Amino acid sequence: MDGKFVNWPEAKIHVLTHALHYGTGVFEGIRAYPSEGNLWVFRLQDHMARLFNSAKVYRLKCNFTADELCDATLELLRKNKIQATTYIRPIVYASHLDVRLDILKGSSSVAICAFPMEKLFEREGLNVCVSSWRRIDDSSTPPLAKACGNYINSILAKIEASSNGFDDAILLDRNGAVSEGSGENIFIVKSGELATPPLTCSILPGITRETVMTVAQDLGIRVEERAISRAELYTSDEVFFTGTAAEIEPILTIDGRTVSDSRAGPITRRLVDLYGRIVRGKEPKYVRWVTSVYGKT
Ligand code: PMP
Repeated sequence: MDGKFVNWPEAKIHVLTHALHYGTGVFEGIRAYPSEGNLWVFRLQDHMARLFNSAKVYRLKCNFTADELCDATLELLRKNKIQATTYIRPIVYASHLDVRLDILKGSSSVAICAFPMEKLFEREGLNVCVSSWRRIDDSSTPPLAKACGNYINSILAKIEASSNGFDDAILLDRNGAVSEGSGENIFIVKSGELATPPLTCSILPGITRETVMTVAQDLGIRVEERAISRAELYTSDEVFFTGTAAEIEPILTIDGRTVSDSRAGPITRRLVDLYGRIVRGKEPKYVRWVTSVYGKT
């Protein structure tokens, strides 16, 4: 927290902290994976770069450089001697104690937490719905910034999904085109080709999304960023979510319509497999994306 290592029970903030009341923070979700006696952080620098972009939108100052936050993350993992699959949560937030809205004169703080986390979802393959809530929009709270307050929108969708017995929700953008999941980007497979909504459909520019696009193209699979309609979801050969926490997660039904015979399709399975190897530093072609925690790469 702000440059100091703090034990878990003491990692506390004041109840009047600005960010608690107004969602005035930006954050990241990063994963680290154990393999061959080492721990590998996936796309650490890219996540920190996105954190700084998010902070820029809200003019939140970070009192450390991106490189310093990367080093602090690695040190945090080493200090805790972490060997398990880990979720890392850096956050930059308005930390002054004031109920006034203007944050330009306020202070900001930074914290990084790390804790073991295996799968995000309880089951392999999801039953999802299309939410009645629309995704937030660039004209109000830009989805491109991973801001704390944005997640109130995701949480409305999540509440609706769980209370109706679904694992998660897909949100449409203000024009009714498919946007993304509550905390994941979305891909469809049609006739052996991938499609995913573009940044103009109110999505977070996901790092897993970019990973999948790059890897798929390297495999010779065509990938298109284009607007996707709701009915197109129902009639796709395969559909999957991507996200740091969710990884690559097959979607088996959408609003009660079966996708790919209710099991992960061949392209999804191939990508899940390869992604699992890439994040553990086992694919020489993509070692540039992993950072070794213990010792040299
Ligand atoms: N969209 C939203 C709204 C998210 O919260 C996330 C998770 N960070 C994603 C997409 C996926 O992004 P990434 O692959 O960078 O984790």
